[in-house]
Amino acid sequence: MENRLKPMDAEQLREYGHKMVDFIADYYKTIENFPVLSQVEPGYLRNLLPDSAPNQPDSFQHVLDDIQTKILPGVTHWQSPNYFAYYPSNSSVAGFLGEMLSAGLNIVGFSWMTSPAATELEMIVLDWLGKMLKLPEDFLSAGQGGGVIQGTASEAVLVVLLAARDKVLKAVGKGALGKLVVYASDQTHAALQKACQIGGIHPENCRLLKANSSTNYALSPELLNETISQDLAHGLIPFFLCATVGTTSSTAVDSLLALGKIAKSNGMWFHVDAAYAGSACVCPEFRHYIDGVEEADSFNMNAHKWFLTNFDCSALWVKDRRALVQALSTNPEYLKNKASQANMVVDYKDWQIPLGRRFRSLKLWMVLRLYGLENLQCYIRNHIKLAKHFEDLITQDSRFEVVTPQIFSLVCFRLLPPDDEHHGNKLNHELLDAVNSTGKVFISHTVLSGKYILRFAVGAPLTEEKHVNAAWKVLQDKATALLGECLG
Ligand code: PLP
Repeated sequence: MENRLKPMDAEQLREYGHKMVDFIADYYKTIENFPVLSQVEPGYLRNLLPDSAPNQPDSFQHVLDDIQTKILPGVTHWQSPNYFAYYPSNSSVAGFLGEMLSAGLNIVGFSWMTSPAATELEMIVLDWLGKMLKLPEDFLSAGQGGGVIQGTASEAVLVVLLAARDKVLKAVGKGALGKLVVYASDQTHAALQKACQIGGIHPENCRLLKANSSTNYALSPELLNETISQDLAHGLIPFFLCATVGTTSSTAVDSLLALGKIAKSNGMWFHVDAAYAGSACVCPEFRHYIDGVEEADSFNMNAHKWFLTNFDCSALWVKDRRALVQALSTNPEYLKNKASQANMVVDYKDWQIPLGRRFRSLKLWMVLRLYGLENLQCYIRNHIKLAKHFEDLITQDSRFEVVTPQIFSLVCFRLLPPDDEHHGNKLNHELLDAVNSTGKVFISHTVLSGKYILRFAVGAPLTEEKHVNAAWKVLQDKATALLGECLG
């Protein structure tokens, strides 16, 4: 019978912590043995676990056994080198260690005094990252702006939308809420729509402007200008523009310079969502994709996507932190303290939706220190090179077509229907299912201009060229089988 676990005991933590690290290290060693996409059926776990929690403590070994036999089969392995779906969600040794330390200290750093290091490290690390991205100085903490770590890009766009909304309503009066209009392309992540729903923006005032293949799915500045003019003529108030660098479907890049000028001339808040592609902009050769960011009021990138920082860590910078604070601050008696009252410190509770917040800057700090800029640049470049390699493989097989230009580490492609009778959308849907059900590889899909498209996103930390080649082989084999059925 092993020792019963105490609520917290340093020696037990050491003993079981080592065992857990061994378990996780073994997981990474054997990660390719699992089907990348979990193959379980909905509700599978109910049949495997008891109806209620145990009255008496279970053994740690018993729990680990259950993780192995009951939980891991229901896990989709985002860290597998054969994971090419959605966008990546990186883990790394440094990110893991930082996350572990954050769990170990387990502070709740909502205001400066609740853990001064948490607030101050977050400000410093976001200044570091801002400088790596060559963001304008106004986004750094020395002036009126600064960075903050949000949980997700969805929270980032929500908080800046609320800041922008309250700023404009202060000027035009609260009664004008129904007149406020938001602009973005129809390729913008649905997080914007959710932010509008939460922020009380009328659904009919959310302009998701059509983007098509003529602009590689980027938002057209001309269309934006026209739409704003029409709205102004109808007495509406344009107040928020969201551009994307690296859209979710196809990595389209909106032109920040042209769009930013339009936003500025109409007095609108300009937010840039670079959730995925922002990471690439630490490389000088890709930095031009965010040229024009100096026109933005806020900029967001997810370090937890493609920057070796374990989930969650979404970096948001604003030029005017007062706007955020004015929209989101509360000052209840039970949280008052000398440093906050004297306005000497940043209290991050006023830059986000919840009160409580984790010490997330630790893991980003450890990633930046333990890898360094040059390694991070190599990491990104390698994935982009692998995506290019995959694109080359596709172009050598005339049964397939590349659908949009490969810019970062995503390739959008499809299997061409063999003749007019066969509908390409159904065929590609079937190909996706056939490939993913092998468990050897996991890719995802989107729809562009009515066409069902397959997405191959390189970006898992363990992915090498051999994995890309193996994935392509699975795709080719399944395509051969499907085309045989079509024609047979
Ligand atoms: N924006 C873009 C461009 C994305 O690709 C995604 C997710 O992939 C998001 C926003 C939403 O990210 P999050 O899960 O951090 O809210």
